[in-house]
Amino acid sequence: MTAANGTRATATSTHRPSGLAIRDAGIVTPVLQLDNVTKVYPASPPVHALRGVSLAVHSGELVGIVGPSGSGKTTLLHLMGTLDRPSSGSVRFAGLDVAAMADADLAALRATRIGFVFQQFFLAEHQTILDNVADGLLYAGVRQADRRARAREALDLVDLSSRLRARPTQLSGGQRQRVAIARALVGQPAIVLADEPTGNLDQGTGQAILSLLDQLHDSGVTIVLITHDRRIAERMPRQVEVLDGQITADTPTAPAQREILNASGPAPQATQPPPEGMS
Ligand code: ADP
Ligand code: MG
Repeated sequence: MTAANGTRATATSTHRPSGLAIRDAGIVTPVLQLDNVTKVYPASPPVHALRGVSLAVHSGELVGIVGPSGSGKTTLLHLMGTLDRPSSGSVRFAGLDVAAMADADLAALRATRIGFVFQQFFLAEHQTILDNVADGLLYAGVRQADRRARAREALDLVDLSSRLRARPTQLSGGQRQRVAIARALVGQPAIVLADEPTGNLDQGTGQAILSLLDQLHDSGVTIVLITHDRRIAERMPRQVEVLDGQITADTPTAPAQREILNASGPAPQATQPPPEGMS
């Protein structure tokens, strides 16, 4: 995708390209690393939503996290996205321990390094789609004119250049999700976290959104996609299975993907038991 490369080239000239892994003494730091994370929601009795999850996501990966309803996927996404803090264990973003960061710093981290896509789109209905996407840069310290210019580029990536002035209510569900994806991408985040992004779409439209995510992955975007649908997860080069708040399987990264990862540094350390350890 030329537009994607163009967008990235612009970013490279001004600041550290957000998609690149951080190198330190030859070790590639994962974008995200969770170590023995638990989450207990206070209730009576307390809900043990995550029970010791360890997971590393490297730059350039497309990871599908799959599990049935109630298994802890959304909780996991919230912790990965620093929207919530774990009850125990650690979450590191680009090597930084999230627990040590103040709320304001976490908000800044989210605004500049993490893109979110949700099942319900969460668009502002009274604003044009251009402004919906431009607002993705509101807290990133980008001037308004530049916000709009970058929003145009992001909307071009999702093939919505012709609808810049439309309001979300004038768009189909698939188009709205494209807008949400553009908003997630506009800040050139280090990672995009998508929670059931096709959950509100019919099958054909959902497939188109998945193809778009594939294309974005091919152009270098790091994506974690959460789904309850095994058929969707099976499209992903790496699949992590969640059941009852625990990871029960983490497939090896597909060979083609591993080559790319190896080219950028040493092979990632396995954080989960090998398949024979599966329950
Ligand atoms: P999934 O996304 O896989 O459906 P969730 O992470 O949403 O799973 O939920 C995991 C478990 O935690 C479920 O039992 C759910 O009811 C519970 N849960 C989620 N959020 C809360 C909350 N804010 N307070 C109490 N329990 C919650
Ligand atoms: Mg969920």
